[in-house]
Amino acid sequence: VFETTVVYSPQVHHKFEVIVLMYDVTESIRMKKMEKDFINNASHELRTPITSISGFAETLLDGAKDDPEKLNQFLTIIKTESDKLVGLTNDILTMSKISDRGENLKDVNLKDYVDNQIQFMQSEIERRNLIVENNIPADLVKKVNENDLFQIVKNLLTNAIEYNHDGGQVIFEYRESKRHWKLIVRDTGIGIPEDQREFIFDRFYRVDTSRSRTKMGGTGLGLAIVQEAAKHMGGKAIVDSNEDHGTAFIVRLPLEN
Ligand code: ADP
Repeated sequence: VFETTVVYSPQVHHKFEVIVLMYDVTESIRMKKMEKDFINNASHELRTPITSISGFAETLLDGAKDDPEKLNQFLTIIKTESDKLVGLTNDILTMSKISDRGENLKDVNLKDYVDNQIQFMQSEIERRNLIVENNIPADLVKKVNENDLFQIVKNLLTNAIEYNHDGGQVIFEYRESKRHWKLIVRDTGIGIPEDQREFIFDRFYRVDTSRSRTKMGGTGLGLAIVQEAAKHMGGKAIVDSNEDHGTAFIVRLPLEN
């Protein structure tokens, strides 16, 4: 898409000169549309739990609070929806912060870093009887933006747990090529249907909410955050999935950072 400006120069020696300036505004139109879509989607996603909280609170005030069973049931819903709202606002804030976070480069031992995050999810891992293997070499130190790495590992690990079968496996691997290093997170979970794969990095995209193992489910922003963080570090996240056999997410990052 081009925007054109026509500039007439004054008549010199009985000749007209016309200068046409053409600007390629495709990217800026795309960015504006993405921003608008994001705000639309975010408002919609926020409105659902807010409407539900407000509705159940009103029903309680209208008299349902006097029935202990209803009181408990409705308060539980209000709590669940509030937690959803907290998760959603956190993700939306993360999303908008990634691009202006600046270079916060730090030396990080990759294996230890991943181990810490696994530790953080330990109770969920045990509850689901999962086996999590960290096959990253022990003495590997990487210069990374720690905020970005945090988002990548946290979201990929959470998904590998969430969309796994009970008793399944999650494996972290490290690969290196001439110019890139790769962090690979593999799971033996439910996989992603082929026709859905191109959309999963889109903001708010969820394949099918009923596939999620936890009651609360996610926000549909996790993989969009992973992709933004990978791009922020000069790399890219891609997916490789075989429905029924599991999924692998590969985050490819430049070697010299
Ligand atoms: P969500 O909050 O729904 O988990 P994400 O952006 O993290 O949002 O993921 C988008 C969708 O991609 C999810 O709804 C899920 O269907 C699918 N997905 C993500 N990770 C996996 C995985 N490891 N295995 C199977 N499906 C996955």
